[in-house]
Amino acid sequence: MMIRVSELEEQGLTVTDPRALEPAFGDPSWRLEALSLQISADGADVLVQGRLAATVPQTCGRCLESFPARVDATVDVRLVPRPATKDNVELGAHDLDVDFYVDDLLDLKRVVETETTLALPMKPLCREDCRGLCPVCGGNRNLVPCACAERAPDPRLAALRDLATRLRP
Ligand SMILES: [Zn+2]
Ligand SMILES: [Zn+2]
Repeated sequence: MMIRVSELEEQGLTVTDPRALEPAFGDPSWRLEALSLQISADGADVLVQGRLAATVPQTCGRCLESFPARVDATVDVRLVPRPATKDNVELGAHDLDVDFYVDDLLDLKRVVETETTLALPMKPLCREDCRGLCPVCGGNRNLVPCACAERAPDPRLAALRDLATRLRP
């Protein structure tokens, strides 16, 4: 969804329908569930403010299973016209909440994708109490309760398992 900055009205523009950005993400497995964004001009800058919610497949850091992570992001971004020369780039270039728009066109999808990416969990967990993989048998403890749960990993067994993995066709 491209917004022509010079045509932004005084009262700005409100986008609340995720379908207006369909497909919102380059990766089709990501889903934009909801959004409420206010786009307004501030001099030559554009402010995008509001919230969005998305579902993004993530790999659990404990059990290594893939799961749909719910991402809720608060959006508060200032977009400045891309400077004509590189000399001007110092303007908040290191500030995550400052971005650029080019040639009077604001790509709202790009803003949504960037903000969603920034809001992804650093250490994704399929659930808060995920029991992870058993260090002894390698089983997923969420699915199979195993008898070895409390034992320390046996290095000889680990070596054998390593071998078994390598020999697997
Ligand atoms: Zn997990
Ligand atoms: Zn086990």
